[in-house]
Amino acid sequence: METTQRNTEHISDLFEKMGGAVTDGFPAIHSPVSHTEAGTPYLRAPGVVMLARPQTNVAGLAGFLEGFDPDLNFPEYVNDPTPLPDSSQLCKTAGQLCYASFGPRRTTNENAAAYIGRLTSAGHGSVLEHANFSFLLYGISRSVTHELVRHRAGVGFSQISQRYVSGSVLRFVERPEYTEDAELHRLFEERADRAAAEYEEMAGRLLEYQEGGNTMLSADYKTDARKKVQQTARSLLPNETEAPMVFTGNVRALRHIVEMRADAHAESEIRNLAVRLFLCLREADHILFGDYVLDTLPDGTHTVATEHRKA
Ligand SMILES: Cc1cc2nc3c(=O)[nH]c(=O)nc-3n(C[C@H](O)[C@H](O)[C@H](O)COP(=O)(O)OP(=O)(O)OC[C@H]3O[C@@H](n4cnc5c(N)ncnc54)[C@H](O)[C@@H]3O)c2cc1C
Repeated sequence: METTQRNTEHISDLFEKMGGAVTDGFPAIHSPVSHTEAGTPYLRAPGVVMLARPQTNVAGLAGFLEGFDPDLNFPEYVNDPTPLPDSSQLCKTAGQLCYASFGPRRTTNENAAAYIGRLTSAGHGSVLEHANFSFLLYGISRSVTHELVRHRAGVGFSQISQRYVSGSVLRFVERPEYTEDAELHRLFEERADRAAAEYEEMAGRLLEYQEGGNTMLSADYKTDARKKVQQTARSLLPNETEAPMVFTGNVRALRHIVEMRADAHAESEIRNLAVRLFLCLREADHILFGDYVLDTLPDGTHTVATEHRKA
């Protein structure tokens, strides 16, 4: 119990240390923007903003529960005095429907953590698929998002299109390994400036080529014409280019992603993202994400793990 308490405090401390804040029930860890001397914008850490979380209407069950034998006392289910995060409540109610566990002998909300623990330890994770969370993710590089989109089950992605946006929104992401060393940092800034300048130069040259009548670049509509220039010019952008997205996952998928990507063996940039995602999820629901233990590696970075992997 003491260890659990310490771990919970440790997790909340890290959320705050990373600049995390909860506004109207929505946790976020923002990431500041820096600029090179030439003015090229870049970020050094992922920004994670929870955009959507479940809202559960337990009272709505009343009309259904009242339709059973009054001796079963089902309607009292909606009067449980212990409030739960809506996401936990949704998953617990879904699980309890399976066995019509609405009567007085059911697991009450007071013991929701043990109930969810039984599901995750037994691998009965399908009820966790009801609760979805959506995030804005920014300050993440193209190489990180390439790894994240390998997760297919239970997730949705909407990512910035380098075909549709111009160089005016180009930003870069500095790897944590570069930030402490002056020379590596200088080289990163030099590369970011160079990539931004080369992109502008290439887009300009392609535009001239297009206006000169090149058939591969020509298009009937202005948007299509711009897209053809941008889809070609983007080929020179490095993996360090920022690639923000809106990302949605159900709790079963999110748990799996945290387990795979906040693991010590995961690549350090995606691990940093997964740890921040976890911290926001844990702030939002201390029950569905209550079995995870946060650890600090000798290099000062963090990992998250649970004994109930892959619910
Ligand atoms: C440390 C690390 C190193 C990696 N290295 C490489 C690498 O070198 N090269 C590389 O290509 N990838 C690599 N990957 C990516 C990895 O192989 C997976 O593609 C990625 O982690 C997605 O996870 P997932 O397969 O569990 O899929 P998810 O989409 O997250 O699916 C969750 C679970 O649903 C089930 N599932 C999903 N889709 C299917 C399906 N079509 N059929 C049956 N079951 C399904 C599986 O049980 C799966 O585990 C690496 C990942 C990690 C974490």
